[in-house]
Amino acid sequence: MKRPDKRILLSYPHMSGDELEYVKDAFASNWIAPLGPHVDAFEKESAEFAGVKSALALSSGSAAIHLALRLLGVGAGDVVFCSTLTFVASVAPAVYQNATPVFIDSDEETWNMSPRALRSAFECAERKGKLPKCVIVAELYGQPPRLDEISALCEEYSVPILEDAAEALGAEYDGKKCGSFGSVGVYSYNGNKIITTSGGGMLLSDNEEYVEKARFLATQARERAPWYEHREIGYNYRISNLLAAVGRAQMLHLDERVSRRREIFAKYRRELTDVPGISFMPEYKKCRATRWLTAALIPPGSGRDFTDVLGYMDSQNVECRPLWKPMHLQPCFAGAEYFADGERSVSEELFARGICLPSASAMTDEEQEWVIKSLKESLS
Ligand SMILES: *Cc1c(COP(=O)(O)O)cnc(C)c1O
Repeated sequence: MKRPDKRILLSYPHMSGDELEYVKDAFASNWIAPLGPHVDAFEKESAEFAGVKSALALSSGSAAIHLALRLLGVGAGDVVFCSTLTFVASVAPAVYQNATPVFIDSDEETWNMSPRALRSAFECAERKGKLPKCVIVAELYGQPPRLDEISALCEEYSVPILEDAAEALGAEYDGKKCGSFGSVGVYSYNGNKIITTSGGGMLLSDNEEYVEKARFLATQARERAPWYEHREIGYNYRISNLLAAVGRAQMLHLDERVSRRREIFAKYRRELTDVPGISFMPEYKKCRATRWLTAALIPPGSGRDFTDVLGYMDSQNVECRPLWKPMHLQPCFAGAEYFADGERSVSEELFARGICLPSASAMTDEEQEWVIKSLKESLS
């Protein structure tokens, strides 16, 4: 095997060719922007896919999270519980709303929000007399947390869930699609996600009033009047008809893309089993994860420092990254409240050893073999 000239990236767009046909259609009708029939169809098809009543196509997943917080009434001085082991975009919109994030640790079985840590956080909030306005549940690398327990807890305290399924489009829990579990759910079509519109997002809900309110807020909160009348402040958060056309064509191949990412994961696990001490993000029993990124824990005390491994992979033209750095360790959230999973801080343990491997569905077998060979060398 020889070093590839082209860098092997973690995750990048995977076009099928159908996108061009859909975009041509948008051109032919001159529905370039704003909105248009592909936007309507993209929303309808996405709601059907997720098994929810309604969906709203937006310019990004971040915009969808921001609108979801507005729907759930999150405002200045409110508290929002958030998964700590996630991308900052899960949490940043809470700060746009001048709310205070409180971070919840992961558990070992799912690497996602720990029900035990969530319970401690709720009990503490109740003692203080200030419950959170919502719980933002991230679905790390395309796997949900133990949703039965998380949902039961949130119901007990009557606090709604905002399900950040940005990495989990196509994942399932107990036979139901991720994105359909929260009061509001969110997908992302950023360039590195399972499918892409180059940039975009979706807000989903069974509550049609929520989706209509979000539609209003996403189009500058324009009231029904002959002139431009505004009682509230909104945003310019809609997606264009051109990008929705790309999204519809990408959706046709979603199942294949998820299967391919799962196949890539299975090959890594199979081929790396002989590396002593290596382990992978487990798949919780009720889940079918997307394996958006294959996440592994490198052996403790493998003789090499974690950063050496990343450096070696880089020298072999392979892009690897550590896991998301937990939000409660981020300088921008210094001093924020954090609830660990009992005696241990699982997210910190995972971050200390966790690595993401290239997982693009368009990656070739040869490229993956190069990654495997390089990783074995870096750990030996
Ligand atoms: C990508 C991502 C987002 C944000 O999506 P954008 O479309 O990039 O704004 C939110 N949450 C998580 C967990 C993500 O991975």
